[in-house]
Amino acid sequence: MGLIIYLNDKFVPEEEAKISVFDHGLLYGDGVFEGLRSYNGKIFKLDEHLIRLYKSGKAIALEIPLKFEELKKAVIETVKRNNLKDSYIRIVVTRGIGDLGLDPRKCKHPTIFIIASHIQLYPDSLYEKGIDLITVPTRRNLNEAVNPAIKSLNYLNNILAKIEATNVGATEGLILNQYGYVSECTGENIFIVKNNSLITPPISAGALEGITRKVVIDIGVNIGLQIKEENLTRYDIYTSDECFLTGTAAEIVPVVKVDGRIIGDGKPGKITLKIRKEFQIITELEGVPIYE
Ligand code: PMP
Repeated sequence: MGLIIYLNDKFVPEEEAKISVFDHGLLYGDGVFEGLRSYNGKIFKLDEHLIRLYKSGKAIALEIPLKFEELKKAVIETVKRNNLKDSYIRIVVTRGIGDLGLDPRKCKHPTIFIIASHIQLYPDSLYEKGIDLITVPTRRNLNEAVNPAIKSLNYLNNILAKIEATNVGATEGLILNQYGYVSECTGENIFIVKNNSLITPPISAGALEGITRKVVIDIGVNIGLQIKEENLTRYDIYTSDECFLTGTAAEIVPVVKVDGRIIGDGKPGKITLKIRKEFQIITELEGVPIYE
């Protein structure tokens, strides 16, 4: 089935949704993006994702070409035009068309497009059994270079990590920062459970300020866990009671093995499963209605 794509103020069939070869998003990875989901006819954490998009834009001095409310409408309309209730939504804003030099001042109009479709990162069986991670050789980008808090189109750091992980048969790569502390995985934040605490690295360790991460922290508070944002070493991960990843696309993924070390009893942990369940309830209930 052909999708309807929002592209620069127009809704077009996917075959017509074409970007110039001179677009700096393509030539230089110069742009920002967001990935959202809708559940049950409602877009989950729409404002939060848009706020992060505007912050990413600000960080790379790229003005998002629509005002907040206009963009919100465009996102909702894109999902509507594709008749979707449960979907994965991608918003991309690039620097736009320029010449072959990298100077962004030559790009007069940002390109913006929105795709509403589906995504499944892992088969259902892996959510049941849990996944394995391997620590990858590629380190997280420095905060002082391309700050990982920016959701930019420059995802090579993550892609290299993904290649390194899958090359050796692991499902996901655990990425350390330049100090050897855990930052996150290739497209997900990481959490561990230790005693009654839910622990995740701080954003300063090279993690994206995940929207799902925040939802999980709130769930943790509600179910009486102590929340800690602190630097974690691989030792902390290996010796944790439970470990899981969070992300919009991945949702909540239990981790049962890291660098060959079995986590807990090698099965998705009780608290992980509880958080997953709570997450499913929240995503079904909350969100901005698409059809009304
Ligand atoms: N880290 C990275 C590098 C990501 O790309 C993402 C989003 N796919 C996440 C973490 C998770 O963030 P969110 O929960 O907002 O999707």
